[in-house]
Amino acid sequence: MSIRALFGGTFDPIHQGHIDTALALLDELNIDALHLMPNSVPPHRPQPAATAAQRLEMVKLACNTDKRLVAEDFELRSQQPSYTVKTLQNFKQQYPQDTLLFVMGMDSLVSLDSWYQWQQLTDLAHLVVMPRPGYELAQASEALGHYIKQHQCQQPGHLHQQSEGYIYLANTPLRDISATAIRNGLHTKNHHDTVPAAVAEYIEQQQLYR
Ligand code: ATP
Repeated sequence: MSIRALFGGTFDPIHQGHIDTALALLDELNIDALHLMPNSVPPHRPQPAATAAQRLEMVKLACNTDKRLVAEDFELRSQQPSYTVKTLQNFKQQYPQDTLLFVMGMDSLVSLDSWYQWQQLTDLAHLVVMPRPGYELAQASEALGHYIKQHQCQQPGHLHQQSEGYIYLANTPLRDISATAIRNGLHTKNHHDTVPAAVAEYIEQQQLYR
């Protein structure tokens, strides 16, 4: 039985805040494969600066750094809006033998109760949450905080004992990097400090985020 993780996001662009933490998580939880999955943004929402194809290409370039990283185009391929519950149902069917982890940053966890059918997520996978500067569990609503406490598991070993149901707060390094800041040029103008080298070259070549 393998441990398979799914890490979704807009990835506009993918950056070291995603990659450094994902690489640390691979080791912390002995993950066999971690799928980085750009989502498709519904037409009524503000659109990403880069096209879906460009976001996927940047994810592919970032995945070249470790063979356990997989660029996942599932949500971009499907014609439906991206709902995590639906995606996890699909992955469960596709990899019935595997333990499934759904990975997110703490900013996503504290607003999880705004997601479609959020309480079903732990019926389909373990949730693994990576710390992020500026976000803490205490920012979750009372109902969500209660739900997190009910599902929280302290020992990473427990994630291997059942295939879904737990919420695990990971010990990955803090990275104060966001895609918004990169797009707005708030970090440094030199993308090499905030995104993998191949992604920085791609951003320059495609003249993105000017
Ligand atoms: P934006 O600034 O456009 O909202 P972002 O930097 O948050 O983008 P996303 O692609 O939206 O990046 O994030 C995808 C996932 O990665 C989310 O679960 C988010 O919580 C997590 N994440 C993003 N940046 C970090 C970071 N620096 N540390 C930990 N998790 C992160």
